Amino acid sequence: MTLAPYAADPAKSRGRRYQEPPPAYRSEYQRDRDRIVHSAAFRRLEYKTQVFVNHEGDMFRTRLTHSIEVAQIARSVARALALNEDLAEAIALAHDLGHTPFGHAGQDALNDCMREFGGFEHNLQSLRVVDELEERYAEFQGLNLTFETREGILKHCSPAKAKELGELGARFLNKTQPGLEAQLANLADEVAYNSHDVDDGLRSGLITLEQLAEVELFRAQYEQVKKSYPALPERRAIHESVRRMINAQIVDLVSTSRARIERAAPEHSGAVRRLAEPLIAFSDVMRAQGLELKQFLRKHLYKHYRVQRMTNKAARTLRALFEAFFAEPGLLPPEFAAKAGALERAQGKTGRARAIADYIAGMTDRYAIAEYERLFTPQQPS
Ligand code: MG
Repeated sequence: MTLAPYAADPAKSRGRRYQEPPPAYRSEYQRDRDRIVHSAAFRRLEYKTQVFVNHEGDMFRTRLTHSIEVAQIARSVARALALNEDLAEAIALAHDLGHTPFGHAGQDALNDCMREFGGFEHNLQSLRVVDELEERYAEFQGLNLTFETREGILKHCSPAKAKELGELGARFLNKTQPGLEAQLANLADEVAYNSHDVDDGLRSGLITLEQLAEVELFRAQYEQVKKSYPALPERRAIHESVRRMINAQIVDLVSTSRARIERAAPEHSGAVRRLAEPLIAFSDVMRAQGLELKQFLRKHLYKHYRVQRMTNKAARTLRALFEAFFAEPGLLPPEFAAKAGALERAQGKTGRARAIADYIAGMTDRYAIAEYERLFTPQQPS
């Protein structure tokens, strides 16, 4: 398939941090995607959660299925806009690699623990995973991905951090845009989680259809489905509505973005970067509806007392782990104790804290729980 002139062209990639010979039968972005899929961090996404803690039930999304859904949406949009599908897929599959166990609660707790030591941000951690933490290749640390995939992973960044990141952080300082594939992977993430949180929320019984009726994006689809199929069992009506909701957002995203691209008429992917605004976007109406849904989910799902109990437990678990390891790095498994020692020799206490954050962020939900029990429950083997 012919790519648009403003699509990312692997032959014109800004390259990898360590030079490598080109792949034989794949493009550079296909190679990035393949490295991501084969990484340890990617496999661990299976046992990390978004909203529901992993052992709450087998029916809910994990970060792995979420990432696959994001990749599917990103690929559809990329193909419809003649953008680079491989790059969009690579970014989507990697976007959550740095997530802590226990979803957002875990990220907030770890950020709190790291306050004096430069903080913790899952987005930066995803970059750290692919740049530093994966140890699979003889010639370099990390996965040595292309600039464009790394740029897509780094969705946001504080000015201070951006300065440290050099070329990769530059766009946060000079207010330019990332490539279109990065822009669309970001919005594909939103489409995926807004929709599947509705689905998981309903299945869990934490939100109800009556409550959801106040949300335009859902109501419009649900009413249509009920009208066309009055006898459809409720579960199927919900699936059909969620499916249509995703479709409506993708159609809106493609048509709005196409019109914006036509208007700006960028001649190449460099021209896209110099624009004041991203070209991949929802219409104003869809953006407002997405926001309404997001606010609904925050109020009724993420703040639900049972989710709050999960997040509270999760936060306490991670904080206890961090404090125990920080006070006594000798409790760390030898491999991580060695890393903490090395980082501490280079950066003092900040280095020790960072190595512990890396260890904790890499844990799956169930590993964090098991580690907590090994440390704090006297009857448990250590
Ligand atoms: Mg995500």
